[in-house]
Amino acid sequence: MTARHRILLLGGTGDSRALAARLVERDDLEVITSLAGRTEHPLAIPGSLRIGGFGGVDALARYLDEEKIDLLIDATHPFAERISENAEAACRESGTPRLVLSRAPWEPVAGDRWITVADAEAAAEALKGLARQVFLSVGRQELEAFEGLRDTWFLVRMIDAPRGDLPLKNYEVVLGRGPFEANGERALILLHGIQALVTKNSGGEATYAKIAVARELGLPVIMIERPSARKAEVAASVDEALKWISQRL
Ligand code: NAP
Repeated sequence: MTARHRILLLGGTGDSRALAARLVERDDLEVITSLAGRTEHPLAIPGSLRIGGFGGVDALARYLDEEKIDLLIDATHPFAERISENAEAACRESGTPRLVLSRAPWEPVAGDRWITVADAEAAAEALKGLARQVFLSVGRQELEAFEGLRDTWFLVRMIDAPRGDLPLKNYEVVLGRGPFEANGERALILLHGIQALVTKNSGGEATYAKIAVARELGLPVIMIERPSARKAEVAASVDEALKWISQRL
């Protein structure tokens, strides 16, 4: 029997789970999804799973060699910059072909009131004088940027309940994991008297409803742009990624 091709799938997104589900259907492949381990109870993922950081570029390159990985698919979130940089360098070092799976960013449409900013610090700056009740839909790691806004009240959405206080003066936490529907997002926004939203430009359908609801209600959206794209072969959908994999093997 011929050896099965081994694919390392850097995960943490809905697309990475969807791709894993498609890849495990093939008998000629073995798929290992890697998660950082940020979420306490990740959703079930088809195929093998490894959890936790690799320990930097050289360690990841070593893993690729030792585990005889034929292809690496970087399906991490577009804002997870460090792991993508590491993957780029480790694949170069080990000569492993790499594909980035990344949804196209959202684009504004008629009726949107977007204020586009480069990072969380600029988003906090843009909120000054704009809104007092804010829906903050960013990661835990970005919350500190909003610490100085002592007169603003934040609705903070998180997957896991925080273990301690958040670095904000006035806030409420709402727990939730996408995909989110427009009706739920509208209710949340109206119930809390939200005057503005802050979000990263993640792209994709799963978290777009809040943007559509903001447009419908005429609310401003502070949109944090993606870090500049790195050079890579990119697939914008699971189907495109499957095509690339078939061509490579
Ligand atoms: P990051 O800043 O790019 O990565 C920090 C470190 O975490 C990396 O150097 C690596 O550690 C480890 N790591 C990250 N992703 C990993 C993976 N898939 N498998 C193994 N190790 C990983 O990442 P982040 O922004 O904290 O995001 C962490 C995870 O959450 C990612 O997998 C991402 O897909 C997911 N996520 C992120 C966001 C976001 O907005 N950033 C949103 C949704 C989901 P070592 O150097 O030790 O290898």
